[in-house]
Amino acid sequence: VDEVEGNFARSVKNCIFSRSIPTPLRGPLRLAAASKDVIEGILDLDVALTHTNDFLHFASGDRLLSGSVPLAHRYGGHQFGYWAGQLGDGRAHSLGQYTNRKGEVWELQLKGSGKTPYSRSGDGRAVIRSSVREFLCSEAMHFLGVPTSRAASLIVSDQPVIRDQFYNGNVKTERGAVVLRLAKSWFRIGSLEMLSRSGEIDLLRKLLNFVIDEHFSSINSDDPDKYLVFYSTVVNETAHLIAQWMSVGFAHGVCNTDNFSLLSITIDYGPFGFMESYDPSFVPNTSDDEGRYSVGSQANVGLFNLEKLLMALSPMLSKHQQNQAQIILKGYADIYQMRIHQLFKAKLGLLGEEEGDGYLIAFLLKMMEDTQSDFTMTFRQLSEVSAQQLQNRSFPQMWALEDLSSHKLFSDWLSVYLLRLSRQNDVERQHRMKNVNPRYVLRNWMAESAISKAEINDFSEVELLYHILSLPFVTQETAEEAGYAARPPLWAKRLKVSCSS
Ligand code: AMP
Ligand code: MG
Ligand code: MG
Repeated sequence: VDEVEGNFARSVKNCIFSRSIPTPLRGPLRLAAASKDVIEGILDLDVALTHTNDFLHFASGDRLLSGSVPLAHRYGGHQFGYWAGQLGDGRAHSLGQYTNRKGEVWELQLKGSGKTPYSRSGDGRAVIRSSVREFLCSEAMHFLGVPTSRAASLIVSDQPVIRDQFYNGNVKTERGAVVLRLAKSWFRIGSLEMLSRSGEIDLLRKLLNFVIDEHFSSINSDDPDKYLVFYSTVVNETAHLIAQWMSVGFAHGVCNTDNFSLLSITIDYGPFGFMESYDPSFVPNTSDDEGRYSVGSQANVGLFNLEKLLMALSPMLSKHQQNQAQIILKGYADIYQMRIHQLFKAKLGLLGEEEGDGYLIAFLLKMMEDTQSDFTMTFRQLSEVSAQQLQNRSFPQMWALEDLSSHKLFSDWLSVYLLRLSRQNDVERQHRMKNVNPRYVLRNWMAESAISKAEINDFSEVELLYHILSLPFVTQETAEEAGYAARPPLWAKRLKVSCSS
């Protein structure tokens, strides 16, 4: 831990954390949302407790639990391809670890809780808009089955926070908010890069041994190749994570190495987006002019980030181990392809492995791209329609399938698909597909609508979305009434999200 005290911005050396006390938001404070699943299932608390003043003060950074030593983590990272030097938790405070009834250890963190030594020119704050998005999306991703950090609560205040709004260039005052979020670990690729780049090799080894002991229980701490095994695990799990993102059409938006977790969970929800119409060049972040982090680039960006991880580990690897690590890295593309293939086969309800499966998947995606059919709903409606209905081309009101079937090669694809399905039970196929193809994802327009209400202290839509997105595979009346599975409204097309949050 840093020797220096105080939250003034500075360059920090020879430490992994700096002690940093949160600067509480000025009142009045309001609980905008709480995740029952996290509060009860992880934190062992009754969700009713979130309505108390004690919780409000704790979850906004105003009151520390006894024994808590809040810390800001020192990390660096490659941003948009270039080494950016020291970054660190500029607006987040780790409050400590909690071991729950199940014996799981979770690290609690506040985001938006004020300046730290790593705030640089930032104000240490987060606004309602971005905090609602982080709260809803981290929970939605969890319920989709994608590894992710979690969100326990969202507290909003009346305290003004100034942000430049990208779409009109005007400076706008928004309101501050704090998310209480959890992860098994918040260490990133950038955590190791920081120490490696500055030649703090003893500390690098210490951190890495700690991460391995705490989170990679299958790795033997006496194994002379343990860093190699660690690397291989991260390569594997990162490939899997990105394949899972792709399977739900999720674009992270800012895949910098400081936003890539060593546990290969999704962290740092900023200008993310779920693809609407299928388009690999979809870029959710308006500030990403070159489309570096388009949805379809994410697999390659994963490779880039894993190369940077290897560079960071290199001082601790022998020449031979470095060569081995290169071979592991070369295996990434195959691992990713295998995962993607498995996930998309499941999305199409295909059992076993047949020769034309890859073609069937690629053909469908190409038709989706040509017809701009909705990514989520095309797969969902393929799950909801029977093979017989498909055969008869009878899918009334299935708007995504209607779009898809306008493709001139649709009949060709369909006959191959139906032949492939003919050797299996169709009811079971639909059942399986409905469990992997969500009906509801957090589309930007859905978040936007909930945000505008939250800005005027109406949190009903945030709550509704939390409930609906906690059962993304189940058709729900409230969701249908809200139009969450309908063709997106026209105004949704004009929506943009930026980094400024
Ligand atoms: P991100 O792009 O969200 O991953 O953030 C990159 C870096 O900027 C991290 O070190 C953040 O902590 C820091 N940062 C982002 N927003 C703020 C803010 N409002 N105040 C201080 N630091 C910030
Ligand atoms: Mg970040
Ligand atoms: Mg961020």
